[in-house]
Amino acid sequence: MKALVKKEDRPGLWMMEVPEPEIGINDVLIKVDRTGICGTDIHIYKWDDWARRTIPYPMVVGHEFVGEVVAVGSNVNDFRPGDVVSGEGHVVCGRCRNCLAGRRHLCAHTQGVGVNRPGAFAEYVALPMSNVWLHAPGIDRDVAAIFDPFGNAVHTALSFDVLGEDVLITGAGPIGIMAAAVVRHAGARHVVITDVNPHRLELARRMGVTLALDVRTESIAQAQKRLGMQEGFDVGLEMSGNPQAFRDLLANMCHGGKVALLGIPATEIAIDWNLVVFNMLTIKGIYGREMYETWYKMTVMLQSGLNIKPVITHHFPADEYERGFQTMLSGQSGKIILHWN
Ligand code: NAD
Ligand code: ZN
Repeated sequence: MKALVKKEDRPGLWMMEVPEPEIGINDVLIKVDRTGICGTDIHIYKWDDWARRTIPYPMVVGHEFVGEVVAVGSNVNDFRPGDVVSGEGHVVCGRCRNCLAGRRHLCAHTQGVGVNRPGAFAEYVALPMSNVWLHAPGIDRDVAAIFDPFGNAVHTALSFDVLGEDVLITGAGPIGIMAAAVVRHAGARHVVITDVNPHRLELARRMGVTLALDVRTESIAQAQKRLGMQEGFDVGLEMSGNPQAFRDLLANMCHGGKVALLGIPATEIAIDWNLVVFNMLTIKGIYGREMYETWYKMTVMLQSGLNIKPVITHHFPADEYERGFQTMLSGQSGKIILHWN
């Protein structure tokens, strides 16, 4: 089959023939229809320090996808050929304390699809049945293809109660933009999102935020005044990984504010811990999605009118993946979908 592979110890990805994945008794074989390009794939494409440390090559990359079941192992009763499914990108051990307690998102031995095991940028992908999500009828195929990052947004955005609260989101990348739509849907009052990229801020405006703020020209504190806010944001979602964005966020929280961190910093970040201590902030790290509470919430919010489609800005045939990656690298895009059929 055709697959996009990290083949060599240098930047780039290679479209090449690889053997079709074989399935075990508990696995599901899926014919991939559409895939989303993730920031992780960009790290692997660029072959930065993290990618070089992490990815054994050759490796089929990619983890955001939607496809159709074509075969199931003898132990699998819940899926059948033709089912439209996506995959949870974290394969958990099933045996550690957290897994046994049903807290699978906290597994101590998580493996990443397209990172530590063969991924979904391919004609076929095989996954354990416990990693397969059956889509409800009527879920848009493009949106289904990005359930994984949509899930990052939902997991982070719903970490704290946002109904009737003011929410600050730093970073209007695809995940920040989806999180903005989610907290709006979930009943937040002011939803302020920041970035330094005008293209992304414009995309965020289309998702119904109160304010899409270019922090190069106006500070978050000034924006608070403009909105008539007195005491700071109740909930903060850090979705940039940028040190200054994190510091700005902490400085604009109300006393007792709740902060969820999804953005992955490239290095250590020094912060003013006095803000955390004296303002009694709660800070929570977020990794991946809750299995499968987040997936359930995503589905139900879409069914109850949440629209995240504007975050998808580009489509390319899989063979034109280079154009997809270059578009993503340019910063002039939201989510990019590659079509495999
Ligand atoms: P992205 O890189 O597309 O978006 C980050 C955005 O932050 C960009 O638009 C960038 O312009 C903006 N930014 C840079 N400096 C800023 C500043 N000073 N203030 C405000 N914004 C600034 O990333 P994404 O795909 O939307 O993902 C968001 C973050 O979440 C990334 O850091 C990513 O690595 C991380 N992530 C974490 C998980 C997890 O499980 N924890 C999963 C997926 C992604
Ligand atoms: Zn585990």
